[in-house]
Order: sequence, then structure tokens, then C-alpha cells
Amino acid sequence: MSHDTITIDDGAIARAIANAATPSESQIAEIIAKGRTLNGLSREDVAVLLNVHAPEHLSQLFEAARYVKETIYGKRLVIFSPLYISNLCQNECTYCAFRVRNKSIARRALTQPEIESEVQELLRQGHKRILLVAGESYPKQGFQYVLDAIHTIYEARADGANIRRVNVNVAPLSVEEFKNLAQAKIGTYQLFQETYHRDTYKSVHIRGQKADYDYRLSAIDRAMTAGIEDVGIGVLFGLSDYRYEILAMLAHIQHLEERFGVGPHTISVPRLEPASGSEIATHPPQPVSDLDFQKIVAILRLAVPYTGIIMSTRETAHIRRETFALGVSQISAGSRTTPGGYANDSPEEVGAQFSLGDHRSLDEVIRDVASLGYIPSFCTGCYRLGRVGQDFMDLARPGDIKHHCDPNAFSTFLEYLLDYAGDTTRQQGLESIEKSLATLEPEPRRISERLMEQVRQGKRDVFC
Ligand code: SAM
Ligand code: SF4
Repeated sequence: MSHDTITIDDGAIARAIANAATPSESQIAEIIAKGRTLNGLSREDVAVLLNVHAPEHLSQLFEAARYVKETIYGKRLVIFSPLYISNLCQNECTYCAFRVRNKSIARRALTQPEIESEVQELLRQGHKRILLVAGESYPKQGFQYVLDAIHTIYEARADGANIRRVNVNVAPLSVEEFKNLAQAKIGTYQLFQETYHRDTYKSVHIRGQKADYDYRLSAIDRAMTAGIEDVGIGVLFGLSDYRYEILAMLAHIQHLEERFGVGPHTISVPRLEPASGSEIATHPPQPVSDLDFQKIVAILRLAVPYTGIIMSTRETAHIRRETFALGVSQISAGSRTTPGGYANDSPEEVGAQFSLGDHRSLDEVIRDVASLGYIPSFCTGCYRLGRVGQDFMDLARPGDIKHHCDPNAFSTFLEYLLDYAGDTTRQQGLESIEKSLATLEPEPRRISERLMEQVRQGKRDVFC
């Protein structure tokens, strides 16, 4: 079979699910033990875990996921903010408020000065990492609009601070366009397949370029062919059976590993949220319960231990708190899904893509995350030192990445506390730095203390 094309074999997935329908006690224990070795799981193993429902088995699974997360990622949690630059869209995705036929929202593509104002507002809050998001229809400049926006974001300044990493979530591109995106120095290119289930896909993408399932499925290949080394994938949970989606996503990952030698840098796990003008978003055909959502995160943590997992503000503060420990490595905070929503702080309903579950400010999220014992990280070190794609995975696999991530998390958290935090957050954050520092091994601790001393002396953007 050629490595150039992806095959999502529905028959094989259905058989894997059916064969794993009634796993034995010992089978489950064996697979969970295998997950704890940090070597990942096969698709057959994952099919078994997807069929685990008994509370005692779920708690064993969650316990193992906590162990893997803690061992590989320690207490760090990377923080980013989405930046919606435009809600113009030519597609008709039945679940999204930006769909072309939806007349209930105000349409807007931000101008470059407006994008700059948004970025300045995010910088004033303390953000360093942005995820650029747009609908699939650009103003008259076409795709150049997105490239200009990336340039504007990197160039924007507020009190000397700047955005250090721009990740991008825009519609699939040609190889040539992806090359331009790579040259614009983006971090990760993210694209969610939404659903890997072809018939479901057809029924919810009824107009525009996005109706082409294969063009979307092959987009990550084009991005990697064009030289984008960090890619992110995801499923929009609620459209189809989550067990099918996870197994199909693992087939996608395996394909990328076989073809490019490295899988995705991140996996996103959005669940359908209510969206203005969308019936299906309010009543998902295959809703994923909170418990199943946690199960999904835990299984992914064991299956692909070195791939980052991203959880957005679609989820409530409560669910986010409960799920961090199971394997999430990145979260958004203080988000708006309306173009212009930061500078104007406009009510969400006006042009938002979907309803948020977590409405708290960045400062509140940081305080909460720190009180749970995590170190919020604004680190952008890997990408700026060229530790991307295969190089990142080579470092990550033996666990060496911790020696970089931990110190960079401490230094960027301290920057946040000194430059942006409210008084209570600063005080609590400084205490949690002391506590967490004490748990580090001597070498990363020494490096962390060195970097933090530089920050205390007034240096900014120090990383290793
Ligand atoms: N327009 C591009 C596309 O569709 O790939 C990129 C940006 S789109 C705004 C980002 C993601 O938002 C989509 O991939 C989809 O998964 C998610 N999304 C759309 N409607 C949603 C909803 N009602 N609830 C949660 N996520 C949603
Ligand atoms: Fe457009 Fe993306 Fe929304 Fe679909 S999900 S309507 S492509 S913005």
C-alpha cells in the first residue's frame, strides 16, 4: 500500500470495536499497565479501553493517565489565546455560526490595524502565544490576508512586549500556499477533520470547498510536504460515535508517522457547543458525556503519550479542572470567538462562532490553575530554537524535553506574575512556584532558578 494516501478502513474499525466489546478484567489491566510504560498503545488496545465503562476500570485508566501526564509533562500547562480575525465563510458546516447561510450574526473581517489592536489587548493581558482562526473566505487580498495578519501579529507591540508564537487554524491550502505559511514563521498548523466518518461528514458539510472530505483529510499531508513540521489534528466530538473517531484518528496518526517519520504535535478535543443559527450544535447527534470526554483524554494520553492535548474554553471551568490531570498539556484562556472581541469586548452573541463554557479572564484562569498545583507556561522555546517535528519527538521520547520545558515554564510564569498579574494571583503564583520548584530534580531546578533570576533582574524572554 502506498504511504501517500490515508486509508480510513471502516470495516477494520467496526471489527476492532466489536472484537473488544466485552474485555476481560485481565485484558484491561494488562493494557493499562502497558500504557504506563510510556510506549503508547496499539489500535486494538485502544478499542478495548474505549469499551471500558465500569467505575473501577475507569478509575484505573484515569490513574494511569495521570501518571503518564505527570511523568512526561510534570505540572506545566501551556496557555494560549485564540484570535478570530474574520468570520466570513463560504462553507455551510451545519454546526457553525459562521456558515454562509446563517443570517443571524454580524459579518466582519478585521483590518490589519484592527488585528493590531486585538493583539495589543492580548499582550496587555499577558499573552505570548496566539492561535489565529478564520472562516474560509478572505477579503479581496485572498490568502495573502492571512499572511499579512500573521505579520501584523508578530510586529504588534504593547509596552515592549510581543507575541512569540503564532499557531494557525485556517482552511486547507495547496502545497504552495502551505509553503508561504511556513515562511511566515508559524508555529503549529492546526486542522480538525471534524468527523472521520465519511457519511456523517457529507451530511454536515453541505456546501463549499469543505464539502470535499478527501481534500480535507489530505491537508495535513500537504502541510507537512510543504515543510510545516508541527501540525495539529482534532475531531469535533458530538457528530459521530466517539469510539469510531478515536480509532480513525489513530489511523491518521499512523499514516503521518509512516509517511513523514513523525505524527502530529497536538491533538485538539473540541466538543460541539451551542452556536447561533445551528440546530445540530444545540442538539448534537452523538453527544459525548463529561465522563466519556474525560475517558477520551485519558485514552489519548496513554495511546500517544508525547503528543500534546489541547482543551479550549468550550469546556466549563469545572470540566477543565477535572480534566487537566488526565493528560491535557495546553489550554486557551480568556477567549473570545468574535472578530474584534478583545479590543471591544463585544457581547459574544454578535458574531461569535460558538458559546464559551469558560468565561473567566486570563488572570482568573491562571490563579485557578496555579492553585491546583500547575505551572502555567507561556513558553515558546522549542519552536524558536528549532526543536520542532522529528527533533522535538526525539527529545520528548526519552523524557529529556522536561529539562527545557520546566525551566521555561517557571521563567515565563514568573514574567507573567511580575508584569501582568493582579495582586492575589501574584502572591499565590509566587507561592506555587516555590512549592513546585521543590519537586524538581536537581538539574532542571538549577536551570529554572538561573532563568528566574534573570527575569527578576529585569530580563525578558529568557528560555533554554
Ligand atoms: N474555518 C476553518 C475550518 O473550518 O477548518 C478554520 C477555523 S474553524 C472557525 C475552527 C474550528 O471550530 C472548526 O474546525 C470546528 O471544529 C470548530 N467549531 C465549529 N463550530 C463549532 C461549535 N458549534 N462548537 C464547537 N466547535 C466548533
Ligand atoms: Fe466556516 Fe470553519 Fe465554520 Fe465551517 S467550521 S462554517 S469552514 S468557519
